[in-house]
Amino acid sequence: MKKVIFLVAAIMCSAFIRIQAQSSACGTIADEKTLQQIFAPSSSFNLKLNQVKKYNISGVRNIKKFTELSTSDNFNSNAGVRRVPITAHILRRSNNTGGISKNAIQNAVNQMNIQYAPLNIEFYVCTYNYIKNDSYYNNSFDSSRHPDYISRNNIDDAHSIDKTINIYFVPNSRGVSWSSFPWSDREHIVMWNNHVTGVGTTNVGVLGHEVGHWFGLLHTFETARGRELVNGSNCTTAGDAVCDTPADGRGSHNSSTCTYTDTRRDSNGDRYRPDVDNMMSYYFDCLDDFTNGQEQIVQTTLLNERNDVLDADACEKTLKEDCVSFNPNTISIKNNRIVDGSHSMMSFPNYEEAKKAYNMIKHYGLNQYCFVGRPDPSFTYLLKNGKSPVNTMEGEDCLGFMPSKLYLKKEGSQYLMTDGRSRMFMFPNKAEAEATLAVIKKHGFTKTCYIGRPQASLQYMRKDFQLNYYIPKVIDAPKVIKTPIKLPGQ
Ligand SMILES: [Zn+2]
Repeated sequence: MKKVIFLVAAIMCSAFIRIQAQSSACGTIADEKTLQQIFAPSSSFNLKLNQVKKYNISGVRNIKKFTELSTSDNFNSNAGVRRVPITAHILRRSNNTGGISKNAIQNAVNQMNIQYAPLNIEFYVCTYNYIKNDSYYNNSFDSSRHPDYISRNNIDDAHSIDKTINIYFVPNSRGVSWSSFPWSDREHIVMWNNHVTGVGTTNVGVLGHEVGHWFGLLHTFETARGRELVNGSNCTTAGDAVCDTPADGRGSHNSSTCTYTDTRRDSNGDRYRPDVDNMMSYYFDCLDDFTNGQEQIVQTTLLNERNDVLDADACEKTLKEDCVSFNPNTISIKNNRIVDGSHSMMSFPNYEEAKKAYNMIKHYGLNQYCFVGRPDPSFTYLLKNGKSPVNTMEGEDCLGFMPSKLYLKKEGSQYLMTDGRSRMFMFPNKAEAEATLAVIKKHGFTKTCYIGRPQASLQYMRKDFQLNYYIPKVIDAPKVIKTPIKLPGQ
C-alpha cells in the first residue's frame, strides 16, 4: 500500500514539475480591465477589432492609420514595415557593474524581428538607459509579489520614455518575465536577463511573447473566462478568445521536434492538439508563429491603443545621449594628451595633433565629449552646452554630407552609414548605427571633421552656418562682416 501511495505521489509530483517547468518563464497575468476589453462583445476594443476583421489582414498591414479602414477599401497607402522603438532599461549595481549586455539585447530583438516579420513589424532599440541602483538591482521583480515595484518606486516616472516600448532588463525576478496589456494600469515590460541571454537556446520566444501581451494577446491556454474546448465551440467566450488558435492543454512537449506529447483530454474527452510553435503558448524553445486571429488583435492595438509608438520622430526627440562634461577653460596638454585637471580626456600620437585638437576645442568652446556604444565607442562627437558646434575654423579638415540623405546598409555582420556617395561610418551592430543616425539627425550635423588624417586621432562633428541664412562668401575682404540675407520663403 505504501508503495502504491509513493508511486502515485511520484507521478503527481513529476506531472507537477513538468507543468511548473513550462510555466516558469512568463509571469503575465491578465487583469480584469483587459479581460473586459477582450471578452465583452461591445467593448471599445472589440468594436475596432470587428472593423479590422472585415478586411484582408495583408491589407491591414499596409495602412498607416485606423481611419483608413473606413475611408478606403483598397489600401494603397502602403505603410511598409512599421518600425517600433524600444527603450531598453538595463539595471546595474550602483558602482556601474552588472546587468545585461547591449549585444544580448540586440540578439533578442533580432530574433523577435524574425517572429514579427510576417506582421510587417520591426523593432529597434531607440535608447539604452542604465539604471544604477543597488536596491533595484537586488530586488526581485517577481510579477505576483511585486507587480507595482517599478511604479511604486517611481522608476518608470524617472526613466520610461513615451512613445516607445519600455522594457526593464532585470537580474532577479524569480525566473519570470512579464508584460502589461494595452488596458493595464502599468505600461512596461520586465525581462529577466537570463531569458534574454538564453535566446538561441531555450528562450527563443520569451521577448516576442511578452511583446505579444503588450499588444493585447492572451495565452493560448488562458482560463480566466473558462477553458477552451478542443472542438472550438466556446472559442469566443473562453480560452484566449481567438478562434484560430487551437485549445491548449499546456502539457508536455518534445523540444527537439516541437511536437505536443501530452495525452490529456478536455471535458468532452477530446485530446488537446495545440500549436507548439504559437508565440503565445508556453513552449518557449519552439515559439515562432502567430495566427491570423492573433495578428488581427496586434494590428488593431497597434493602430489604436498602441499607435503612439508609430510616431517615427519620437525616438530621435527623446534620445538620451551619453556625454561627459568638461571645462574648456581648464584643459591642458600633457604627454600628448588633453587633460581636464587630473582627468585624461583624449590621447594623440604626437604633440602637433594634440595641439590642433586643443585649439579646436577652445575655438568652439566645446564642453561635452559624447559617445555611442561605450566602453568601446563606435562613434564620438563633441558638443557645446548640448548643441552642435557651428561655423568653421581655419585649417579644418572636414567632409560635408546631407543629414537627410543618410541611411544604413548591412555589410556582413556590420552596418555602414552612407549618404549614397561616400562610405562614412562602420558600426559593429544595428543598435549603435541607429543611435548614431538619431544623434546626427537630432543635432543636424552636416560635417565630419578630423584631426590627423588618414589615421585620424580624433573625429568631431559640426554643422554649417545656420541653415535659414545665406551668408555670402567673402574672398577679398575677410574682415568685412556682411549682414546675413534671409532667403525668400524662410
Ligand atoms: Zn505570457
